[in-house]
Amino acid sequence: MKFSEFKYERINLEEVAKASEELLAELKQQTTAEDFYRVFLKQNEMDKHIETMATLASVRHSINTKDEFYEKENDFWDETIPQLQAYSVRLAQAVLDFPQREELMKYIPEPYFLSAEFALKTFDEKIIPLLQQENKLTSEYGKLKANAEIEFEGKTYNLSSISPLIQDKDRDVRRRAYDAKMAFYQKNEAEFDRIYDELVKVRTQIAHELGFKTFTELAYYRMDRFDYNQDMVANYRRQILEDVVPLTREIYRRQAKRLGLDKLRYYDMGYEFESGNPTPKGSADDLVKAAVNMYHQMSPQTGEFIDVMYENEMWDLLSRDGKQMGGYCTSIPEYGVPFIFSNFNGTSGDVDVLTHEAGHAFQFYSSRNIPITSCQWPTMESAEIDSMSMEFFAYPWMKDFFGDDTQKYYYSHFCGTLTFLPYGVLVDHFQHEVYNHPEMSIEERKATWRKLEKMYCPDRDFEGFEILDKGCWGYQQGHIFESPFYYIDYCLAQVCALQFWVKAHKNVPGYFDDYLHLVSLGGTKTFTKLVKAANLKVPFEDGCIKEIASEARDYIASFDDSQF
Ligand SMILES: [Zn+2]
Repeated sequence: MKFSEFKYERINLEEVAKASEELLAELKQQTTAEDFYRVFLKQNEMDKHIETMATLASVRHSINTKDEFYEKENDFWDETIPQLQAYSVRLAQAVLDFPQREELMKYIPEPYFLSAEFALKTFDEKIIPLLQQENKLTSEYGKLKANAEIEFEGKTYNLSSISPLIQDKDRDVRRRAYDAKMAFYQKNEAEFDRIYDELVKVRTQIAHELGFKTFTELAYYRMDRFDYNQDMVANYRRQILEDVVPLTREIYRRQAKRLGLDKLRYYDMGYEFESGNPTPKGSADDLVKAAVNMYHQMSPQTGEFIDVMYENEMWDLLSRDGKQMGGYCTSIPEYGVPFIFSNFNGTSGDVDVLTHEAGHAFQFYSSRNIPITSCQWPTMESAEIDSMSMEFFAYPWMKDFFGDDTQKYYYSHFCGTLTFLPYGVLVDHFQHEVYNHPEMSIEERKATWRKLEKMYCPDRDFEGFEILDKGCWGYQQGHIFESPFYYIDYCLAQVCALQFWVKAHKNVPGYFDDYLHLVSLGGTKTFTKLVKAANLKVPFEDGCIKEIASEARDYIASFDDSQF
C-alpha cells in the first residue's frame, strides 16, 4: 500500500479514555506475568493506532502546510497528545508496580522499565510552572534568532540566507559576511545573556525541586542515559582531546595549504575547496535510482527495504511550495514502515538523506516486528549509530552519486566527521561546567567557553574580534539553549560508526552481519549493551579512540588533496 493510501481518521478521545481506564483496571487484576503482558499488549495495540494517526496527520501537514484539513488535524493532535500522556504515565506506573518484575522482564525489554522509572523521577506536578518558564525562554531564543536581520551590501539577510556568503570564493566577502552575522550577536548580546542566565537558573531550580543536586544529574535522566554517567563521558572527552584534536590540526593545516593561505582565519574555516564543495551529479530521480541500486548490491535485507520504500512512496524528497523546511525520518507503526521527509537542494546534503536518513529508516524497518512500539526505536545516541554507519557503508557506491567529485566527497565527508568531534565535546564540556557551577556569573561562563574552545578547537583564532574573543560563539548553537546536554549523543555515535568504518575499510569479516544484528535490536537494549551486541567497543573505554585515530590518519594521508 502506498503512503498516500494509508487511511487517516481522528480518534475519539472519550472512547480512548474509557478503554484505557478499563484496561488499566484489568491490568491491576492480573497475577501472572504472562497474563499481565497479554493485557499490556492490548493497550500497546491501541497506542500503536493512536501513534499511527498522529504521525499521518503530522507528516501530511508537513508535506503541504496549505492543506486545511491536515492543518486542523495537526492542531487537534498538538492539543490531544499531552492529554494522552497521563495514560502512558499510569500504564508505566502499573508496569513498575507489578510484583514479579523478573518474570515480566522476559516479555518487556529492560529499557521500558528504565524509561518508566526515569520519567517518574523527572516529573512532578509542582514543577509544571517552571517547565512552562523553561519553554517560554527557549521560544524566546528561537524567536530572537528567527527574526535576525543582517544588513550586508545594501540587502537584508537572515541567519540562514547569509550562509552561502560566509562560504564565498572571495575572501573579503567571506570576512565581511561573517562579521555582519556576528554583529547581530554583538547587538543582541545582552538579550542572549539574559535568556541563557534565566535558563540556567530555572533548570537548576527544577533540579532542586525534584531532589537532584544539579541540573546535570537531572539532564542525564531526562535524556534516558540508562547506563553511563558524567565520569565516563569526561573520560570520553579526554580521549577526543588527546587523540582527535591533533588530527584536526593537521586537517586545518592541509586546508590552509590547499587554499594557498599562510593560516586559516576564522572566516576561512568553513571554506574547504577553491573549486567548490563536492555536489551530486544528475537529477533527484537519478540519485534515487542510484540509491535503489546501491541498497540492492549492499545486502538482500537493504534491497528488500529500499523496494518497500520506493514502491510504496515512503518518502517525500523534493522541495516544494508550501512544504515545511528541513528533514526527518519517522515511522508509521501500524503499517510497520518508516517515512523520510526532506528538501533536496542540489548539495551533498541530498545524498546524506539517502544514506543517513535511510540508515534510520532501515533500522526501523529491521525492528518493526518488536511488539512493544516504544522499544522499536533506540535512545538517541544509539539511533545515530545506525544512520552514521550507513554513511560509511555507502562509500563504495559514492561514484554513482558524485561522479568526478567522488574523491573530494570522501575527503570532505571523512574530515568532517573528525573535525566535528572536538567541537561536539566542547559543547558538552561547557554545559557540564555551567550546570555543575550554577553560581557562575554571565562573564565567568563566557570565559569558560573561551577557555574550553582554545583547548578543543585551538585553530580558532578570532584576532581580537570582541564578541568571539569574549566567548560568545556558543550563542549560535541552538542545542545549548533548547536541548541541554543533547549533543554528545552525535559524538558517541560517530565513534561507534567510525569503528564500523575501520572494519569496512579493512574488510574485516562479519562486520555487516553485526550491523544487521544491531538494527534488528531496535530499542530493546540500552546504549552500551547495543554497542557490545554489535561487537564494537564502548566509546568510554580507554584506547577505543586511539585506534580509530590511527586508521583515520593513514586514510587521510592517502589523498592528494592538492588536486581538489
Ligand atoms: Zn540522525
